[in-house]
Amino acid sequence: MHEASIAISLLETVSGLCCQEGFSSIETVRLKVGKAAGILPDALLFAFDVAKTGTVASQAELIIEYVAIGGSCNDCGSQFDSEERYIFACPDCHSTAIKITRGNELQIVDMEVN
Ligand SMILES: [Zn+2]
Repeated sequence: MHEASIAISLLETVSGLCCQEGFSSIETVRLKVGKAAGILPDALLFAFDVAKTGTVASQAELIIEYVAIGGSCNDCGSQFDSEERYIFACPDCHSTAIKITRGNELQIVDMEVN
């Protein structure tokens, strides 16, 4: 499962940061996930809950901010957001000369530690 390896590397990152800063437990981790990143939030939450057992993040809550896909069109200049998981053409002029600028994120926003 894709999400399981993401959860494990996420835990390694936040645990490392936590220990490096001299804290002993993680309360919350906020993660920004783009819709185009190909991650199912429910699966990631589940994988995180399983993988966190026995780590400094064992009590941690994972909060996922799901980011819509957005971009701009090179032909008509339109700026758009989409609720779709994939977008191949401009919603306004149907040109395929589009640039996706949001929706591929997979990044830690912040975390609360103790
Ligand atoms: Zn367009």
